[in-house]
This record gives sequence, structure tokens and C-alpha cells, in this order.
Amino acid sequence: MSAFVIDPPEVASLPVEGEQARFPVRRIYCVGRNYLAHVREMNEGADERDPPFFFQKPRDSIVEDGGSVPYPTLTKSLHHEVELVVAIAKGGANIPQAEALEHVYGYGVGIDLTRRDLQTVAKDKGWPWEMGKSFDHSAPFGALAPASRVGHRADLTIKLSVNGKVRQTSTVAHMTWSVPEIVSKLSEHYRLEPGDVIMTGTPEGVGEVLAGDVLEAAIDGLPGLKITITEPVAS
Ligand code: MN
Repeated sequence: MSAFVIDPPEVASLPVEGEQARFPVRRIYCVGRNYLAHVREMNEGADERDPPFFFQKPRDSIVEDGGSVPYPTLTKSLHHEVELVVAIAKGGANIPQAEALEHVYGYGVGIDLTRRDLQTVAKDKGWPWEMGKSFDHSAPFGALAPASRVGHRADLTIKLSVNGKVRQTSTVAHMTWSVPEIVSKLSEHYRLEPGDVIMTGTPEGVGEVLAGDVLEAAIDGLPGLKITITEPVAS
């Protein structure tokens, strides 16, 4: 007899470059407003050193490299945001910055897909961001690369192109809050656990995508990510 009254959901996970075994995903955290040039393009008037703030996406919203994303419902403005992804292997609360990198398993590239029109309504009304950020298929991720192989570099080029044309290009050195700062601050809000992944914010150049578009996201030395936006799903 099954332990569950219905079939349990699958364990969400990501492939790891060079490994047969996969990285299981517990939670997906996201950092808002972490590149000043993006804050400015959004006309948000936030200060460069405003404390970082966080939101989450459901782990079953992951789309892997080579996958497709049906154009989501209830939006006319689906935006791409390319981001460095940090995967956590060792849990902890109130992690000091100096120890933060000891908690990191590795890195990848992700796209924080955003229903920008719904996010704008949420901002205007003081509502949570979930309906703009945390919809089905909203978290395309490339494979992870272990830090034991790629190290902890803070100067990587980050790039996103749509149909072969570059839309976003920057370096993670432009992040307002660095990876150790993000891990430390986030662990003050939530106890981090193995399997958590963190999307670390997007540089400038965000913009709309349409059904039929092919998005390619890349960060130096990390596995790439290519997805296709497809027609909306009717039911
Ligand atoms: Mn983002």
C-alpha cells in the first residue's frame, strides 16, 4: 500500500555538468534589484545599497536546457532576466559572509521569466510579486557546474540573446550584493538547506519575448541555457 493517498510530486532537480547524479532542488530564492543599471532602467528610484530583498519561485517551475516555455496566461508582457544561479550544498542560519562560500555547491545560469505587466500592477497596489514572478515554467535553468571545478569567480561575463541578437550583457562584478553577501543576508531571513538555489538578480537590458523566440543565456565557463517560447497552452 502506498504511503500517500495520491501520487506524490516528483523531486525537482537539476543536471550537474560532468556528473551522472543530479542536484535536488528544495527552494528557489530570487534577489530583487541587484544591478544598479537595471534598477535605473526600471525607474524604481531605489538606492544602490538598499537592503537586498527576496522572493521565491516554486521548484516545479524549473525548465531545463533545451526545453520550451508555453507563453504564460494573463500577460501581454513576458520579460527575460538573465541571472547567475547559486546552488547551496550546506545549510545554515545567520551565515557570516566570510564563511558563505563554504555553503555553495556550484553555479549555473538561469532566466527569471517575469510577467512584467502583472508585476507592475503588484508594485502599484502593494501586492506580493508572485503572480508576476512565480508562474508555471517561470524558472529556466542550465546545468550546474560544481565550484570544486569552476571556483568562485566574481568577474564573470553574463549574457542573454533572443533569436541570436544580444539583449543583455554585463558582468557579475556589477552586482550590488555579492554572492557571499546574498548568502549571508538570505540566511538571516530563512535557514538555508542543502538543495536551495538562489537567482542573484539581473543586469540591464531586460525586455519582451514572444511565442517562437529562442532565448540563449550564458555565463563564462558555466553550462549554457537555450529555451524556446511556444504558443500558449489552452488547457
Ligand atoms: Mn530577477
